[in-house]
Amino acid sequence: MDNRTGFAPLRVAVASGKGGTGKTSLAVALALSASASVRVRLVDLDVEAPDSLAYLPDAVASGERRTVEIAVPAVDRDACDSCGLCARACRFGAILVLPGVTQIDTNLCKGCGRCVRVCPRKALTERPVEAGSVQSYEHGSLSVIEGRLRPGDVRVTAVIDGALSAASGIPADLEIRDCPPGATCPLTRSLRGADYAVLVAEPSAYSAHDLVAAARVVREMGIPGGIVVNKAGASSPELDAAIAGSGLVPLGSVPFDADLAREGADAKPWRMDGPAGPAVRAVLDALKALEASRRTA
Ligand code: SF4
Ligand code: SF4
Repeated sequence: MDNRTGFAPLRVAVASGKGGTGKTSLAVALALSASASVRVRLVDLDVEAPDSLAYLPDAVASGERRTVEIAVPAVDRDACDSCGLCARACRFGAILVLPGVTQIDTNLCKGCGRCVRVCPRKALTERPVEAGSVQSYEHGSLSVIEGRLRPGDVRVTAVIDGALSAASGIPADLEIRDCPPGATCPLTRSLRGADYAVLVAEPSAYSAHDLVAAARVVREMGIPGGIVVNKAGASSPELDAAIAGSGLVPLGSVPFDADLAREGADAKPWRMDGPAGPAVRAVLDALKALEASRRTA
C-alpha cells in the first residue's frame, strides 16, 4: 500500500455479525502485515471484550490511560416541581417522576443531555461519570488503541467514540478497526467514517443469519465492503445465499485447519505463509485498489 503521509488514513472496519468467527484474527493479521510498509493504527472497538492485544503480547503501553466520561444529570429536589418533562424526553427510560419524587437511574443514562435542555426550572445539572477507558500501545511500528468498557457499564458507544477520538490523534496511513459483534448501535458507531468494511463469516446457518444483518447495516451506511469466509470447507447453502444477497464482494476464504484453530485458541496471529495468508493478501489487495482509486479521484 502506498504511503499517504499528510492525507487522511484509509479507515477499514473488520466486523462480523456473530462473535467467534475470526474477526480479530483477521484484523490483527491485516494490521501486522500492512505495518511492514505503512503506518498502521489498530483500534480495538470490541470494548466489552477487547482482545486484540492478546495476539500482540509484546505491545507496550504508551501514554496515560484516558478515562471516558459521560455527563449524567442530578436533580435539585428543591427546584424540581415534578412536571415530568424530563422523563418524557428521555429515550432510555432513565428517569422516573412521581409527585414529589424524581429519580434518575445513572446506569441507564446515556448522557445525551436532552432532559437537562427541556427542564423548565433548571433543576438538572450534569456531573461526569466514568464509562470506560482508552489506552494506546506500541507494537514495533504498529500503534494499537484499545477501548475498554468499565465492568458492569452499558455505555458501549461512548467508549467506542472515545477510542476513535484517541486513535484520530495518532498519525497513520491505514486504520484497522476491530469492531464489536452484532448489528446494532455499537456496530453502527464503529462503522462511522469507515471507508471500507470487511465482514467475516463462517459456514453455518447462525453465521449466515448474522451476516445478513451486518451486511444490511454496511449497505445502509453506504460503505463499500467485502466478505471473508473463515473455517471454510463445509457446505452451507445459507451462507452462500447470504453472501449472494449481501451486495458485498467475496474477497477470499480461510480453510478450516486444525492447526490454525489451535493457534487461534492460543491467540497466535495468522501467518502470511500459513492457510490464512491468501485471504489476508486478497483483503490487502482490495484495500490497495481502493486507495489507488481514492488518490486518482
Ligand atoms: S441525559 Fe439523556 S439518557 Fe441521561 S437521563 Fe437525561 S435524557 Fe436520559
Ligand atoms: S423537567 Fe425539571 S422540573 Fe420537571 S420533573 Fe424533570 S427535573 Fe423536575
